[in-house]
Amino acid sequence: MTIDRVWLKSYPKEIPHSIDYEERTLQSYLKQAAEEFPSHIAVQFLGKEMTYRELYEQAKQFGNQLKTLGISKGDRVAIMLANSPQSIISYYGALMIGAVVVQTNPLYVERELEHQLVDSGAKVIVCLDLVFPRVSKVRKATQLEYVIVTSIKDYLPFPKNVLYPFVQKKQTGMKIDITYNENTLSFKKFLQGGVTTEPSEDVSPTDDLALLQYTGGTTGPAKGVMLTHANLVANTIQGLHWMYKSKRAEEVILCVLPFFHVYGMSAGMNLAIMNAYKMVILPKFNPKDVLKAIEKHKVTLFPGAPTMYVGLINDPSIQDYNLTSVEACISGAAPLPLEVQQKFEQLTGGKLVEGYGLTETSPVAIATPIWGKRKQRSIGIPWPDTDVMIISAETGEPADVNEVGELAVRGPQVMKGYWNRPEETAQVFKDDWFLTGDMGYMDEDGYFYIVDRKKDMIIAGGFNIYPREIEEILYEHDAIKEAVVIGAPDAYRGETVKAFIVLKEGRSVSEEELDAFCRKHLAAYKVPRLYEFREELPKTLVGKILRRVLVEEEKKKAEQQ
Ligand code: AMP
Repeated sequence: MTIDRVWLKSYPKEIPHSIDYEERTLQSYLKQAAEEFPSHIAVQFLGKEMTYRELYEQAKQFGNQLKTLGISKGDRVAIMLANSPQSIISYYGALMIGAVVVQTNPLYVERELEHQLVDSGAKVIVCLDLVFPRVSKVRKATQLEYVIVTSIKDYLPFPKNVLYPFVQKKQTGMKIDITYNENTLSFKKFLQGGVTTEPSEDVSPTDDLALLQYTGGTTGPAKGVMLTHANLVANTIQGLHWMYKSKRAEEVILCVLPFFHVYGMSAGMNLAIMNAYKMVILPKFNPKDVLKAIEKHKVTLFPGAPTMYVGLINDPSIQDYNLTSVEACISGAAPLPLEVQQKFEQLTGGKLVEGYGLTETSPVAIATPIWGKRKQRSIGIPWPDTDVMIISAETGEPADVNEVGELAVRGPQVMKGYWNRPEETAQVFKDDWFLTGDMGYMDEDGYFYIVDRKKDMIIAGGFNIYPREIEEILYEHDAIKEAVVIGAPDAYRGETVKAFIVLKEGRSVSEEELDAFCRKHLAAYKVPRLYEFREELPKTLVGKILRRVLVEEEKKKAEQQ
């Protein structure tokens, strides 16, 4: 299908439309950073530092030791860690021997963990001691041959409260019994006495997988997204050109987004290593820790999620910190309300741009140009070498300008497919276009807008309603800190619009006031019929609001009535 690349006329002159990608593996960039800047700090982690040479040496050790266990090219190595030096060492060590990394969320319950390990066929898992009980429980049902256990204490004394999010509540304070043997290994010991030559594996950047990244997808169990070295390298290079002012080995990047999420991995860890930046690593988001870290380490780049920026601008102490070192922030993973962007920029002086993408696109496909023209509520224009098409629901052909349809993406960052799922893969590809499942439109300047997820659309009394539009309005209300809108089951209208609201501290507002406010800005059929005020909303570790949890709760309530 041919498309008109309308957005090219809106490209800032400094950003190329097309880039020559080097055919390289991710690990070759770590080697390069260690050779060019051996004593440059790679990692700053709760008071301790590690140079690029040290990081590279340890990753080599890790890779060599995996080899001695019989792990070889193509084998899957799961990593279930919070952001830490260990998570980087295991990731790059595994890549060095051509293994495929399977990032595993430390918050997974046994059922989710077992599914991911069985589906990927991982032979090894590197995990935190705190999650070891969960790994042990599912171990027998999986193909795991080795469990490598680490404690954050292997690197540092670690405050207890920082560990909290990675263990289920009932596990905090429990004594973890680990019997080390030939199949259950200590990470610290594992790293000792390895060989320090680089394991030389013949890895093809374009054909070989670097990563299996699990994603919920629209239906069914989580699927492993197959991303090659070339996919991940391309997306990072595209991002680098987007921020063309960033300087090799001079930037300081705050890594608070988890590395086990594709966004934190690409826009944090990989971006840093490919450009020898200093990574300031925080294992958990907490506004004060972030503010302190920015001031102390003169952070220049801060990739985050919308809810993180919401948390920061609402923290009264933000005024007490000097945040002027921040030059660029990329918000991604979920819609960034305009008010949040503007307030954050006023407070810091840095540019807060929005990126859009999916796990399947490594992850970024579209972003607001950092130094170019920005348009209200737009997610921006496609990254270099990335084509985006809106597919009309009516004709299945490219939609007209300003017509809503499904976004489809084509580019070097698009995944190979879903692991062992040819049918699901076929469903999301139309020729070489990847179908995102997101609804949106393109304006006459080639700027894109997301209206909503196809699956999040609410159908109330026959009207199609996109929750995001209502959320944007609610965020404009001065008393509201966070808002999420869902379709609650309704016997008469099929679904009805329900808003969950978190108010700013010390503020109050009545349902009647909110109703009047929404009526001013929205057609009557879009105005929420139900409101629920909450202290907080359920979120993922990257701060994405778990809309589906709220939808499930509403469904259950309706069934019980
Ligand atoms: P994931 O694969 O978990 O990263 O989720 C991808 C989904 O997040 C996309 O399909 C979008 O629905 C949503 N998303 C990501 N970035 C944005 C954004 N900037 N604006 C709106 N939705 C977004």
